[in-house]
Amino acid sequence: MAARAQPVTGMRGIAGVPSYVVMQPTTLCNLDCVYCYLPFRAADRRMPVAVAEAVAAAVKPWAATGRFSVVWHGGEPLAAGREHLAALMAPFGPQVEHHVQTNATLIDDAWCAFFVEHGVRVSVSVDGARERNGDRVTRAGQPAYDRIVRGVAALRRHGLPFSALAVVSRPAPGYATELYDYFLDLGCDVLGVNIEETEGVNTRGNAHDAATVTAFWAELVAAWRRAPRIHLREVEWSLRYAAAVLDGAADDLLPRQLDPIPTIGHDGSVTVLSPELAGFTHPRYGDFSSGNVLATPLAEILAGAAGTPWVGEFLAGVEACRSSCPYFGFCGGGHAANRYFELGRFDGTETEHCRNSKIRLLEGVLEHARDHQSPAA
Ligand code: SF4
Repeated sequence: MAARAQPVTGMRGIAGVPSYVVMQPTTLCNLDCVYCYLPFRAADRRMPVAVAEAVAAAVKPWAATGRFSVVWHGGEPLAAGREHLAALMAPFGPQVEHHVQTNATLIDDAWCAFFVEHGVRVSVSVDGARERNGDRVTRAGQPAYDRIVRGVAALRRHGLPFSALAVVSRPAPGYATELYDYFLDLGCDVLGVNIEETEGVNTRGNAHDAATVTAFWAELVAAWRRAPRIHLREVEWSLRYAAAVLDGAADDLLPRQLDPIPTIGHDGSVTVLSPELAGFTHPRYGDFSSGNVLATPLAEILAGAAGTPWVGEFLAGVEACRSSCPYFGFCGGGHAANRYFELGRFDGTETEHCRNSKIRLLEGVLEHARDHQSPAA
């Protein structure tokens, strides 16, 4: 499956128009998960409506030409409260799709009515069965699991479809099947699986034995193929890539340019490419922001984003990946935050994150394919 099958021409430079924006309605989170990367999650710094109005002014022409999403991310976005979140959503009008990434602990009947009224698509963070959620705790250090499943039960009671996002801290044999079966029962229709990342204020190591991680992904593919009732994000991406390589069409998969994915901080600051960098500063790179929507229109900020010093360095790193990594056609060059928090710079290439979540993932899919090919093949 060498991605060397043909040159990879996508992911050159940053697009001027994003496919979605990430909004931080508050820095606050009501939980205090051990692996969380957010630096200010104990403080309730709320986004003023003027910030949402400025972003909405930029988004409206983009949304008029096609599907456009506004992703409310935190902190815990529901900690901003229904009234404030509604005031922040209002300027966007009916043309955008709203999404929230939530820990689910605050979801009740009133929130479900809010999701219906505002057409919000919900994604829930939960790591599997109760004993797998030891790192998801309240500010008092108590397990949050019961509150999470209560929130999920409310979504189900109201017939609201939802996605789930699971963090896997220690991939191990047998775990992938358990994990997939859990989410089949939970009732989500989309599942994303993240191997824990070393980033932000989470400094726990993420180096794992290569064969173990590959076996984890191979087992997850097998579990999914037995009952493919959930869209399993990572596995479906990998299979789409594998099919495109076989069809000689792999170069059509990556976008021509990187999606800028602007994250709008509570104060209007704009951080492109990696939400995880928002709120951090560095002596050489400054605060990582490319501007503030209260001072400069978002379209103008994005047009000049490649000139942000760290962004230029990251684009050099993407080109280094293109020329050195056989997985570039699948991965597209990885994420800025992983390079920064693991390597201390943006122009490096391989990280533990890309080994765990790109390279071993694709190898796991291939291992599964090899183990299940017919003897005649
Ligand atoms: S980030 Fe890692 S997997 Fe992706 S292209 Fe670069 S070296 Fe390869």
